[in-house]
Amino acid sequence: MADGEEAAAQVAAPLRDTGAPTIFDKILKKEIPSTAVYEDDLVYAFRDISPQAPTHILIIPKQRDGLTQLIKAEEKHKELLGHLLYAAKLIAVQEGLEEGYRVVINDGPDGCQSVYHLHLHLLGGRKMKWPPG
Ligand code: 5GP
Repeated sequence: MADGEEAAAQVAAPLRDTGAPTIFDKILKKEIPSTAVYEDDLVYAFRDISPQAPTHILIIPKQRDGLTQLIKAEEKHKELLGHLLYAAKLIAVQEGLEEGYRVVINDGPDGCQSVYHLHLHLLGGRKMKWPPG
């Protein structure tokens, strides 16, 4: 592969989990501003910087604790995973999404995950399509 092609392939390559800190750590430390919509002792939720629906919120655990992606979940994470999902429901009500919404986890390269700190996407405010792309 020519140098230019190799560089292009690297740019296009799907992101993988390296265990490195992510932009969400900076958001949690308030080093990067975010628009908070919900917070409790375990989770933080804020508006996505690139919304894919009128309401697009990211719900993340405050402590990543090895949960870079869902496939890394262990028995010890079961309670936190339930807590994240219940927070999604609370936020959906708070956002007035009683007519419906979607909760998404993009997992790994094939799932188009770009930030390796587990997060739920809460999308709503428009009619969703199925199947997703
Ligand atoms: P993923 O692709 O990993 O499922 O989702 C990561 C999400 O994080 C994307 O929807 C992206 O728009 C969002 N995101 C990335 N950087 C930032 C940021 O600095 N601030 C906010 N609010 N969202 C971000």
